[in-house]
Amino acid sequence: MSRSSDMHQEHESQWSRVRARLRSEVGDAAFNSWLKPLSLLRLRDGEVVLTVPTRFMRDWVVSHYSDRLRSLWSDENSDTRAINVLVNPPAKPSARHADTEGDAEQLSSGGHASEGSRAGSSPEFDIGAPLDPRFTFENFVVGKPNELAFAAAQRVGNAASVPFNPLFLYGGVGLGKTHLMHAIAWHIRGMYPDRKVVYLSAEKFMYQFIRALRFKNVMAFKQQFRSVDVLMIDDVQFIAGKDTTQEEFFHTFNALVDQNRQIVISGDRSPSDLDGIEERMRSRLGWGLVADIHATDYELRLGILQSKAEQAGAKEVPVRVLEFLAHRITSNVRELEGALNRVLAYSNLIGRSITLETTQDVLRDLLRANDRRVTIEDIQKRVAEHFNIRLADMYSARRARAVARPRQVAMYLAKQLTSRSLPEIGRKFGGRDHTTVMHAVRKIDELRQSDSTLSEDIDLLRRMLEA
Ligand code: ADP
Ligand code: MG
Repeated sequence: MSRSSDMHQEHESQWSRVRARLRSEVGDAAFNSWLKPLSLLRLRDGEVVLTVPTRFMRDWVVSHYSDRLRSLWSDENSDTRAINVLVNPPAKPSARHADTEGDAEQLSSGGHASEGSRAGSSPEFDIGAPLDPRFTFENFVVGKPNELAFAAAQRVGNAASVPFNPLFLYGGVGLGKTHLMHAIAWHIRGMYPDRKVVYLSAEKFMYQFIRALRFKNVMAFKQQFRSVDVLMIDDVQFIAGKDTTQEEFFHTFNALVDQNRQIVISGDRSPSDLDGIEERMRSRLGWGLVADIHATDYELRLGILQSKAEQAGAKEVPVRVLEFLAHRITSNVRELEGALNRVLAYSNLIGRSITLETTQDVLRDLLRANDRRVTIEDIQKRVAEHFNIRLADMYSARRARAVARPRQVAMYLAKQLTSRSLPEIGRKFGGRDHTTVMHAVRKIDELRQSDSTLSEDIDLLRRMLEA
């Protein structure tokens, strides 16, 4: 055997060990989707060159797995310096990777190109959109605001037959609709690999339909859609006012429901509130189960942050920072994730650990956008929590130091953080006189000079409330 083929064999066996370790790290589902289709082209001069069948996959692999690939390769082969991923559509099944062929094609097209290309049709028949491997049930944090939607999604994912039709998920932007839909799709693909699951946005549906009209292959278009087992259409509000598309969608919808196929739809509002959707369509959308995803609450936000920090491998994020973010970034989960990522990236870059101060610095613009006006009620609640007293003691007549001092702190903060007058503040504290408030403000000012613990408490509270 020549030296180079020895070498080649050795690289192949290194590669198979890297693959095995990746598989155990990321789990079967992600591995099969993204990593299994990779093949080793060569390892030369410290550069590992891998190939994938599509550009989309290449981008995905590079952005999500390149660090892992590099470090696993370095463990196997200390020469490794760089990983390069090239796009190389599988022309013919090579002996070594024949087994990856099907998966690779399947992925690039959300599950249908394999059928499509076997039938010799062109890529315009890739009717589905790819699924995000992070959007699984396991990665979805459940709380009060989304528990119904989550339960319904799981039900559809697990069901052997159609439990309700359609499942209509609705809620504001960034609250997890797309995540749940992908999770259903992943789950069904895992449990029932024979079922044809198609996920796409209403926008893409329209685009494909218009294309089909233009290229006069509406029949093929119809057939494609009507042969699926599970059809998921994301952001249905997009087809509001688009009459022809709506009409076609309505027919597809009815055809599938008649054949007892599962349909899952998302929208930014409930079917009855969707404007620009024909009445018969609207009523049909509400026939199955309509599940609302509510705005997040503090507990859910904190849970999501903890889970994301863990996934990012960042154990170093202080609880205080997570709590701060959960309090301050209330808009939606996407922004919350974005904020956390920014903080992580920053600390990574400058190689310093994360503190409340750096967090505030890095996120100044975002925090301002999320700024809610601080209310006296917020202040009372926070201060009571902080000092571990009952909220009612903010208004009560009790004068024990243990409650009187926190109450004074709250009055002080109310004066500092709101534009309320002293009498107004007094009224909010159980109808106290404005002179009581004035006295509290003076007293706390004075104490801050000598009592550094109190002073820090107040700074912390203020930051929490306002930043
Ligand atoms: P929508 O489709 O409702 O606009 P997405 O599903 O795209 O929102 O969610 C936005 C981001 O927030 C995604 O990265 C998603 O993973 C994340 N996300 C939303 N809700 C949750 C949740 N409950 N647990 C974990 N991640 C979530
Ligand atoms: Mg979405």
